[in-house]
Amino acid sequence: MSKPQLFPTSVVGSLPRPAFVLDLINDRPPLAPERYVCEMEAAVRFAVAMQEHAGIDVVTDGEWWRKSYIGVIAELAHGFELGTLPDGRPFTLVTGKLAPKTPGFIAREVRFLKTITRKQVKATLPSPALLGERMWSAEKSTKAYPKRDDFVRACVPILRRELELVRDAGAEIAQIDDPHLCLFVDPDVRAQYPDPDAAAAFAVEMVNEVVRGVGGIKLAVHLCRRAGGRARGEHAHGGGYGPIIPHLNRLMVHHLTMEFTAPQTGDMTVFRELREDFEIGLGCVDVTPGRIDSAATIAARVRQAARFLAPERITLNPDCGFAPGSGAVVSIDEAYRKLCHEAEAARMLREEFAGLGGKARGKIRKFRRAANCRGRQTLAAYGAAGGGQAP
Ligand SMILES: [Zn+2]
Repeated sequence: MSKPQLFPTSVVGSLPRPAFVLDLINDRPPLAPERYVCEMEAAVRFAVAMQEHAGIDVVTDGEWWRKSYIGVIAELAHGFELGTLPDGRPFTLVTGKLAPKTPGFIAREVRFLKTITRKQVKATLPSPALLGERMWSAEKSTKAYPKRDDFVRACVPILRRELELVRDAGAEIAQIDDPHLCLFVDPDVRAQYPDPDAAAAFAVEMVNEVVRGVGGIKLAVHLCRRAGGRARGEHAHGGGYGPIIPHLNRLMVHHLTMEFTAPQTGDMTVFRELREDFEIGLGCVDVTPGRIDSAATIAARVRQAARFLAPERITLNPDCGFAPGSGAVVSIDEAYRKLCHEAEAARMLREEFAGLGGKARGKIRKFRRAANCRGRQTLAAYGAAGGGQAP
């Protein structure tokens, strides 16, 4: 059997939605269901062909069937009120008790993808605590769920069922999006919570409840400091990963995507503190509109990560999705260029690392030892504290 290729490339999830796709998801004009599906399938074929042509190894459908990466919960369950903000972004609030609505909505996205690509396929699901932060309001939600955490717990069985269906549909990777967990790096955000570490631990516990015992699929968690919001010029959250590392080490998943192009993410020495059985989806491509990193810049970020991580543990991806919500105004051609550069960086690195041979690999290992990488830590070491076991 041939060795797996080094530095596989991926997207985080969403791709910019062209005007035609935005019209489709917003029913402009309303179409008969069969017609809608036919046109959206044509759009998704384009999204996948674009990623393949750019040289991306793990593809998504760009999340084009969804109004937003988190709003998809309203497809899976009843109990939500939907609306649109003045800037065109969709919002979803919980107003009633959750009940299964269309289990398999995300799994259907996967099944279609599997018919049009031979690449590995990634499906994304929102994390329960993230949904709690965005969709529970003291004004609208207390009748159904007096406390935010009650709603968060109610999301778990819905998401867990979908995860199983996504696995059964043949996705190679299921990614739980939890940018909210990442915000506990920010002193301003931490100050808003009476006990920020308890809140972060709760977020992790809820992800673990979703994935517990679900085998046969690579499980990932996506972390970022609301890179999508940052791209819209909203508040930039500061702080390196240090404060949340103990929480991340309790996640019962195989893969973490972590953004690293923004200066506020801090340096990569935090990898020393992470469990060594995590594969890292290195956020090495800036998603800020108008900023297109060269392949050389992207490759330099990966080389930096390889000082702390075995190259076999590194995969490449942008910091975040390109357009997490359908209101985002981002050029699809620009996203395509960024993905081309990502793939080009991976090709450069593969050649470089293949050419290194055992001697240079040994040098890297020596560096990592000198850098005091703790290594050899696995989830088992955290099992007692996290109450979990490896998935
Ligand atoms: Zn993100």
